[in-house]
Amino acid sequence: MVKITEIRTRVWNWVGPTVPPKTNFCTSATDALPSSEDSMASFRFHQWLTCEVVADNGMIGIGNAALAPPLIKETIDQYLAPLVIGADPFDYALLWERMYRKTHAWGRKGIGMTAISAIDIGIWDLMGKIVEKPVFKLLGGRTKHKIPVYYSKLYADSVDAMQQEAAKAMEGNFQGFKARFGYGPKDGMAGMRENIKRVEALREVIGYDRDLMLEAYMGWNLDYTRRMIPKLEKYEPRWLEEPVIADDILGYAELNRGPIPISGGEHEFSVMGCHQLLHHRAVAVLQYDTNRVGGITAANKINAIAEAYQIPVIPHAGQVHNYHLTMSNINCPMSEYFPVFDVEIGNELFYYIFEGDPEPVDGYLNLDENTPGLGIKISDRHLNNFTIDE
Ligand SMILES: [Mg+2]
Repeated sequence: MVKITEIRTRVWNWVGPTVPPKTNFCTSATDALPSSEDSMASFRFHQWLTCEVVADNGMIGIGNAALAPPLIKETIDQYLAPLVIGADPFDYALLWERMYRKTHAWGRKGIGMTAISAIDIGIWDLMGKIVEKPVFKLLGGRTKHKIPVYYSKLYADSVDAMQQEAAKAMEGNFQGFKARFGYGPKDGMAGMRENIKRVEALREVIGYDRDLMLEAYMGWNLDYTRRMIPKLEKYEPRWLEEPVIADDILGYAELNRGPIPISGGEHEFSVMGCHQLLHHRAVAVLQYDTNRVGGITAANKINAIAEAYQIPVIPHAGQVHNYHLTMSNINCPMSEYFPVFDVEIGNELFYYIFEGDPEPVDGYLNLDENTPGLGIKISDRHLNNFTIDE
């Protein structure tokens, strides 16, 4: 039996060059506050956590998390690592419950569940390495020849700049394209027109044979969204993502009864949290984030529940753990893909920490049958652009 001997956490702080985002590049939950010159400032991801699950046979499973990395590190080091050290990684379901229940008073959502996720992903990578199988082969195997991906960037910018980015992205032959709204309730009718102008401009470039996803990142509210939906309907969005804050499940449910499919879930946590979204028919597409929702163990249970509700799951973020879950579940039709860019908001930071992420070809990506685990390793290519807290 292989035993876990150590959990090694590191916080990676990006100190390399960053591209300053434009004003009004994306709405956010803080837009409702009186001062919001750069309302997305608190949503930057310039730190990342790596979580290595070390086994007594010398193998190491790699997990990661991007929410509040210094707090995740403390949570793992002080509370969670002692619960899994000495255990058999193949007892992952019990280990998950142990972490969940022993931190239940404070850990159910947010920091606690993100910390559990980082360890759990590392455990799955380790299991794959031990049995010399890719993780998707442990989850149900191949349900599709390759995974269609949608291009996820198109932050709000001038109409010209967004059209240019979309035209360039079209060359990648992606299944769909996701754009961010730059204006919300505080910008009134004029902001509504700015939003619509950009949606119209994007449809001009990509046409109507590809999906167009629209993202508000919790920066709207129920009233504003009710007023926007009739204006957006004729552009046939594949979905409208996170129009309201994550806690407003009834708001999601009301909006989801309308003509545009509503998506969300990247700020929901755990099996039962996602079940609430499904039960209330709050989303037409569920987008849990594996390194927040409870790792692969929780995500795979949620996939089964969502399948029973016939709600497709398209996980948040273009990270490899999501690709393994998508490959192995018939109810996961495609993946989000973050194109590789210079560091901006930080969504793309994992490309600078890991190597081995699959790259899309002609709108699809694939997973190798012969690479054990998740198929990534920690890279030393960009070490000079990070400081690391051990
Ligand atoms: Mg999103």
